[in-house]
Amino acid sequence: MSDTRYQRIDLHTHSTASDGKLSPTELVQLAHQQEVQMLALTDHDTTAGLSEAKGVATSLGMTLVNGCELSVAWKKIPLHMVALGFDDDCSIMAKWTQHNQTVRLERGRQIADLLKKKGLPDLFDKAVEEAGESQLGRPHFAKVMILEGIVKDMNKAFDHYLGNKKLGQIRDVWPQLEEIMPELAATNCELVLAHPKRYPLTVTKLKAIMQDFKALGGDAIEVASGNERPDYVRFLERLSRDFEFKASAGSDFHGPFGPWTQVGRFTQVHEQEISPIWYQWQV
Ligand code: AMP
Ligand code: MN
Ligand code: MN
Ligand code: MN
Repeated sequence: MSDTRYQRIDLHTHSTASDGKLSPTELVQLAHQQEVQMLALTDHDTTAGLSEAKGVATSLGMTLVNGCELSVAWKKIPLHMVALGFDDDCSIMAKWTQHNQTVRLERGRQIADLLKKKGLPDLFDKAVEEAGESQLGRPHFAKVMILEGIVKDMNKAFDHYLGNKKLGQIRDVWPQLEEIMPELAATNCELVLAHPKRYPLTVTKLKAIMQDFKALGGDAIEVASGNERPDYVRFLERLSRDFEFKASAGSDFHGPFGPWTQVGRFTQVHEQEISPIWYQWQV
């Protein structure tokens, strides 16, 4: 059993600017109801929701930390890196989010073409329409596949077509850590390796990634990112100490329904065992 609890901080959440279900306003209001005092909005490859979120957070007396979950790659293996605390007008962040937004569209075209080769209809236009103003992602393809009666639910779409080792997991499209990290590390920004448990990797590989992440200016690893088992969180807490990383934590909330945990709710971390990244920001 996992030991998820409501916490006063949450440094990993999504809104409709990417693949979350709630608008930035609704997300911040819900976080406030759950008594979250410090929230980071970390949409995939976009900062579009931040100013709206900040306005609402300020009016509710909450701290909103600027965030973005960037799609990156280590030796062609897709990873997620959460950037936190960057300036509103950070031009390096704007450069890389714009870059990845272009990649998202091109990758969407590639995914649609691969699905077509498997005998499915061309889903590109429908996925783009489904995404609307949001950053196009695999969840939008999954939604269209459900609407078209191709699969029963999101899990089936990822299991059969879009997830790890399936055709939708296109490997070599994202910026390599070596290209993106030094530029961002030189700005006023904290770089966090997101949800280490979510990658299909051996512990040896994971440690090799952490070593490179550290060498390239990485600041922290996410020791809790939803409802992992407590023993895994203890393991990541140990790794954060071994590599002299700070520790970040969040729910990876995408919406009130589905497989995700609630905003402000994630496996308990042991603050005395780690160097919490959130201590640098005021609540
Ligand atoms: P993308 O950003 O386009 O690479 O898509 C990755 C996103 O898909 C993740 O951030 C999750 O929100 C979502 N996702 C991954 N696996 C699943 C799953 N099995 N069921 C539902 N959503 C998933
Ligand atoms: Mn997502
Ligand atoms: Mn992620
Ligand atoms: Mn996320």
